[in-house]
Amino acid sequence: MRAFGKFAVVLAGIALLSPAPARASLREDVAGFFHGIAVHFRMLRLAAQPPDSVLILPLRTTRVHRLYDSWGAGRPDGRKHQGQDLFAPRGTPVYSATTGYVTRIGENRLGGLTVWVMGAGRRVYYYAHLDRYPEGLKANDRVDTGTVIGYVGATGNARGGKPHLHFGVYTLQGPINPMPLLRDPGRTPSF
Ligand SMILES: [Zn+2]
Repeated sequence: MRAFGKFAVVLAGIALLSPAPARASLREDVAGFFHGIAVHFRMLRLAAQPPDSVLILPLRTTRVHRLYDSWGAGRPDGRKHQGQDLFAPRGTPVYSATTGYVTRIGENRLGGLTVWVMGAGRRVYYYAHLDRYPEGLKANDRVDTGTVIGYVGATGNARGGKPHLHFGVYTLQGPINPMPLLRDPGRTPSF
């Protein structure tokens, strides 16, 4: 904490002593620095809470009782399915299943376009095979069960197959089956 404090004082000092244009950009840097620290502390506070006992189904186009449980199903390359596949038409909005913070947005070979969200208890929620992202979504954004974090697609190793959301839940001990925790969302105006 002392190091943070010193760094902040040095930054503020530089900001005050610089010419006006540089000062404006430095002011933004300083504001960004403090915003970053604030987000970091809010994330730590959420991480320290007990993990969610209920996850809200990330799709509004289906119901939990209609889902097919594919947890642990074998995959051609010998892997076991570490999540649930939620089928929906391409472009269906994907909502965050929990309150949390976006920790990563990016593309990988298997998952295609993906979003990672850290929730309470340092659980990590993984949304994969997305078609696209909502405009402006970025790492460190706070999300809740009303936040669209992507749209259903068939990217990664789902390419050429039926569009679906791969939903994974990772604890510090490893992946868990999301199915027993999933609940239908309540009726809201956006439903
Ligand atoms: Zn899957």
